[in-house]
Amino acid sequence: MPCRIAIDGPAGSGKTSVAKLLAKKLGFYYLDTGAMYRIVGLYLKNKNIDEKSHEEIEKELKKLNIQFKEGHFLVNGKEVSDEIRTPEVGIYASRFASVPIVRKYLTELQRKISLNENIVVEGRDIGTVVIPDAEVKIFLTATQEARAKRRYKELTNRGVKVNFEDILNEIILRDKQDSEREIAPLMKAKDAIEIDSTEYSLEEVVDMIYEVVKE
Ligand code: C5P
Repeated sequence: MPCRIAIDGPAGSGKTSVAKLLAKKLGFYYLDTGAMYRIVGLYLKNKNIDEKSHEEIEKELKKLNIQFKEGHFLVNGKEVSDEIRTPEVGIYASRFASVPIVRKYLTELQRKISLNENIVVEGRDIGTVVIPDAEVKIFLTATQEARAKRRYKELTNRGVKVNFEDILNEIILRDKQDSEREIAPLMKAKDAIEIDSTEYSLEEVVDMIYEVVKE
C-alpha cells in the first residue's frame, strides 16, 4: 500500500525544507503544491489577467501544461526557475489560489501525481482537500517572526535580493488571504498532528515526523 504524507501549514513554516529532507530520508517522491500555485500566479500575472475574470482564467488554464518529471516542474516544456520564488509571485499565487477554477485544476493535477505513490506532499489543503485519506497528516506552524526570518535567510542564500520588512509583511498578508478565503482555507485537518517548529531545528522536526511514519 502506498504511503502518502500530507504536510500543511502557513507560509514559511518550514514545510518545504522539512518535506524535502523527509522525502529524501524515506526514499519517497516530494511534491511542492505551492510551486504549482506560484506557476499559475506568475503565468496569469504575465498575461495581465485579473483574478475576477474567471472565464479568461479558465481559457488560459487550458493552454497551460504543467508536467512533473523526476521531482521537477516543466511549464509548457520549460523548467521553472527562481522567478516563481519572489515575494511578489507569492502574493499573486495566493490571490489566484482563491479562484475556484484554479483550485479545481491544481487539485486534480495533484491527486493524479500522488496516486499510488510513496510521496510527501506539502501545501495548505493537502490533508483537508487534496488527500483527505493520507496515511500521515502533519500541520506545521511557527511564529510569523520566525517564519519571516527563515524565508529571508533562504532567499538571501539563494542570491535573491530581498528586504526583511517586505518578507514579514508578505507573510502577514498571505496568512490573512490563505486563512480567510472561502474556498479551501488554510486549516489543520482534524486528524493532523500539529508541530510548532519555532524552537526546533529542521533535523529535529524531520526526525519527529519520521518516527510517526515508522510507527
Ligand atoms: O507554499 P508557498 O508559499 O510556495 O505557496 C504559495 C501560495 O500558494 C500560498 O500562499 C497559498 O495561497 C497557495 N497555496 C494554496 N494551496 C496549496 C499550496 C499553496 O492555496 N496547497
